[in-house]
Amino acid sequence: MPELPEVEVVRAGLAPAVTGARVAAVEVLDARSLKRHEAASGDFETLLTGERIEAAVRRGKFLWLPLAGGGALVGHLGMSGQLLLRTPDHPGDDRHARIRLHLEHPEHGELRVDFVDQRIFGSMAIDRMAPTSDGRVAGFSADVTGPWARSIPSQVAHIARDPLDPAFDDDGFAAALARRATGIKRVLLDQGVVSGIGNIYADEALWAVRMHGEQPASSLSRRRARELLAAVREVLNRALAEGGTSFDAQYVNVNGASGYFAHSLNAYGRAGRPCPRCGTPIVREAFMNRSSHRCPRCQRLRAGVRSGASTGASTPVARVIPAATSPGSSAGGTPARG
Ligand SMILES: [Zn+2]
Repeated sequence: MPELPEVEVVRAGLAPAVTGARVAAVEVLDARSLKRHEAASGDFETLLTGERIEAAVRRGKFLWLPLAGGGALVGHLGMSGQLLLRTPDHPGDDRHARIRLHLEHPEHGELRVDFVDQRIFGSMAIDRMAPTSDGRVAGFSADVTGPWARSIPSQVAHIARDPLDPAFDDDGFAAALARRATGIKRVLLDQGVVSGIGNIYADEALWAVRMHGEQPASSLSRRRARELLAAVREVLNRALAEGGTSFDAQYVNVNGASGYFAHSLNAYGRAGRPCPRCGTPIVREAFMNRSSHRCPRCQRLRAGVRSGASTGASTPVARVIPAATSPGSSAGGTPARG
């Protein structure tokens, strides 16, 4: 499943081609790809045809195209979704093409965007926009000056900001960890706490800070929470930097199998191979119908951290429990799939 860096490659590739373009025609080849489109809001093709696309915006792994009419086209890539930028004369030979947008761009002329989705976990929808709850810019895009910039599609509003977002709340993140007794990896995958991190980059960030994925989030000191957040950002930024070099403007591609920036992974997918830090073979363990990869030597469960004991090598740091914490708020959030 694409994570933040993969979706950012798609966004960055689409943005120059679609920004300012008018939707000349819409072809829905498979109505199953409209499952998240609310029929009550109107017909997808009718709502979209004639609209002008203002930008390409991303929050975490969610992508949307604000429309001049005030709504947005939301693209859920799901497990296997791709948004492919085509020339208008490209042969329509992809049997997994579900939706096709014919665009007219004032500078680039006629273009086509094909939504290709083999497994149909992804979808497209026209959604209404609402102001962001914190009044800040909703997501990442090259230009944030438009009237749409501080609004977010209703389908994305429950998604937390991603750690690369300038408006991400570091203190709020640490406070959210302190309230959750569930394993830290589950919290990293909870899109209501922090978005954009999936299985792969969660394993990588946990390896980087020598942390076991089942370590209770509430047992982490503030210092360890900060270290983890810094590692998440480093892992995501590194993947973004690598993705930028493989980008091809004519073929915007996200592929769940081969599109990951796998050449620099330290733990994920490396079961049985030596930990790059200590040489101990990486182990693979069952995790939420998927797998976790970790070094059994570097990443051990730490007992007694909750009571203020040292987390191994790090200095004990008093954990600040927010006043808002109530006995009923210790349950973890709903982990998102991906
Ligand atoms: Zn190791």
